[in-house]
Amino acid sequence: MSVFILQNLRKTYVVNKKEHIVLKDVSLSFPDKGLVSIVGKSGSGKSTLLNILGGIEKPTSGRVLFKGKDISKFNDRQFSSFHLHGAATVFQHYNLFDDLTALENVILPLNMQGISKAKCEEKAIDLFKSLKIENLINSKVKNLSGGERQRVAILRAVITEPDVLLCDEPTGALDSQNSREIMGILAKISKNTLVIMVSHNQNLVSEFSDHIIRIQDGLISEGFKIDKDRFNETFTKRKLSYSSSWIRLFLFKNFKNNIGKNIFTFISCLVGFVSVFLCVGFLVGSEKSYSEAVKKNLSIGNASVSKIEFVVISDSPLTYQKTVRPSLQEVDSEFKEFSTITVEENLSYFISSSCSCVLNDKPCSDFQMVPLLDLTLKNYGSDLIVRGSAGSNNFDEVIVNEEFAKLFSEDVLNKELIFKNTATTNYKTYDNTYPFIEDELIIEKTMKITGIIREFPFLNSPKIYYSYGGAKSFLKTQNMENLSHYLNKEYTFYDYLIDCENDDIASSYSSLIFLKDLSESEKFFSRAKKLKNKTLEVTSQALEVKETYKTLISSFSKTLFIFSIIVFIGINFILGMISLSSYLQNRKNIAIITCLGGRNGSIYELSLYENYLVVILAFAISIGLAYFGQSLINPLLSKQFALSNLIEIPFLSFLGIRFGLILIFLLIILFTTTLFTIIPMAIYRHSFLSEELRDE
Ligand code: ADP
Ligand code: MG
Repeated sequence: MSVFILQNLRKTYVVNKKEHIVLKDVSLSFPDKGLVSIVGKSGSGKSTLLNILGGIEKPTSGRVLFKGKDISKFNDRQFSSFHLHGAATVFQHYNLFDDLTALENVILPLNMQGISKAKCEEKAIDLFKSLKIENLINSKVKNLSGGERQRVAILRAVITEPDVLLCDEPTGALDSQNSREIMGILAKISKNTLVIMVSHNQNLVSEFSDHIIRIQDGLISEGFKIDKDRFNETFTKRKLSYSSSWIRLFLFKNFKNNIGKNIFTFISCLVGFVSVFLCVGFLVGSEKSYSEAVKKNLSIGNASVSKIEFVVISDSPLTYQKTVRPSLQEVDSEFKEFSTITVEENLSYFISSSCSCVLNDKPCSDFQMVPLLDLTLKNYGSDLIVRGSAGSNNFDEVIVNEEFAKLFSEDVLNKELIFKNTATTNYKTYDNTYPFIEDELIIEKTMKITGIIREFPFLNSPKIYYSYGGAKSFLKTQNMENLSHYLNKEYTFYDYLIDCENDDIASSYSSLIFLKDLSESEKFFSRAKKLKNKTLEVTSQALEVKETYKTLISSFSKTLFIFSIIVFIGINFILGMISLSSYLQNRKNIAIITCLGGRNGSIYELSLYENYLVVILAFAISIGLAYFGQSLINPLLSKQFALSNLIEIPFLSFLGIRFGLILIFLLIILFTTTLFTIIPMAIYRHSFLSEELRDE
């Protein structure tokens, strides 16, 4: 049986753009057992030939048939079993793992075959005994001498009982005593196995070899002719097995060796995960905060409605647009399906929103007067009172918000303020003698601040809430002297408001809508955006602020969302780059493992488990940190926005799944970690095999 057949093997290297032929045309078939020595001058191509046989280097052309199969066509599994069962290599410079003990080194390939550690050790100890080096079993390789290392390297190669043993200069670095002993060992092994050895020691070669192959000028000068009959030989199949349990040997050591890299990965994952958690928390929390914010404003209960009219300019194709007061019926019919709506006259020309007041001799004009249907806050808003109490529905009491209270250095609760306003009216008589009757309403009314409320402070202005009913009754008591005189009857400012033209300034060009309770508010405001009567227009200052807040929050959320995705991709890149760099840093060890028979998959696993450990640890801690961060940031934000949970990381339930966020996030993390760890390594695999294993 001939396990190795070489056919027209050619190997050239290109150095400085010049082709350098090392092997010209080598055809050989090796015997099944015995010690075959390859000799030749230094640089003649001996190691190159051996490396091609061991699958470490690829020939430029020609084929190497191992048991009838071209080894250059092997896939990862075949390549692994070729090394595990077929051809084992003893490297000139041993290529042992210095940090492992001699025993751990020797059992490694056997362990790769899936044999239990105990059985591997049993077999290995017998081998150590056969070479009488059992005293070395537990020594770290880095403490062994050259001769000892060479013996350990031979044991590691023979423990799997391979078909072929490939040895490059096994005695190259040893003294003559050691050299003879090693040759003795190889000769003994060659009784049952094919041993192919490279050597330049003529004496030893002629003494121990069964066959000698000489390489000269890229050609074989002495060798064996290929026996054509042997091409169609069938080989008894060996039972092939493989297990990746060997990686346990390296896991802990790798983790320790890579501690700097792991700490860096850990910290970047930690920072990244915490920010992703906080972003998600903000997305969820701000959405909820919006509906909370809407309810935290008393003025949400009223809105004004105006009507747009187009006026044709006579003798001209032009029209202009003007805003007028709609009739109460028009507004009523627009919103008739709403049970909690009342439509009222707008008093704001007389109780102007831009008026002034005096509190303890301190004047103030930087506030708004807002009417409330019910100042007793029976239906909504009582929870907003932070101090004092709701008022009563007459024009003697008011409620103010904190923004208003802050305008004064003293405490305003239960203080009296003097509300001042002046409004003039011009009644059109259509009478040339008195075309206009002018009247003036001068209000100077003392009111008591009964309560202070805390509203959603975003863009909120100082406000005084007064009772609409109270103000209406008050206006009904205010007589218009001149007009009463002209009309010769009692005529109040309230009467004027009702009777005046819809485009009279006193009408405020609008009517008021009050929501009696807020249960219909969402429905009302969404309806207000698309009215059936296109000439009507609803404006609500509170709603505008809320819309602004919503837009702001949602664009901020979107930005945060994109940010967290970028952060997440960033973490993965860092992870991938770090594991790639440690993969490349470890390429010598990886090359050795590949040559011993370790599959790519197991090598990836080794890096993967390390990354999983770091990432999962960072993930677990980031949950705690994010929770901590949330409880730290929320009180700060609640001071700013008066919203209790602006960040609300949905740890307990997400998308209806219990612990959904943690589970989904963990799955994504494991998936991307796998991807970003493996892809860069897969790109570089095998690219450095011959480079790292060439013994110079
Ligand atoms: P030997 O083992 O017989 O001393 P080698 O097989 O190591 O010789 O090398 C044969 C020739 O190939 C040498 O001239 C060496 O410089 C050249 N060689 C080996 N590897 C490379 C390489 N990777 N790139 C370029 N030339 C190489
Ligand atoms: Mg060499």
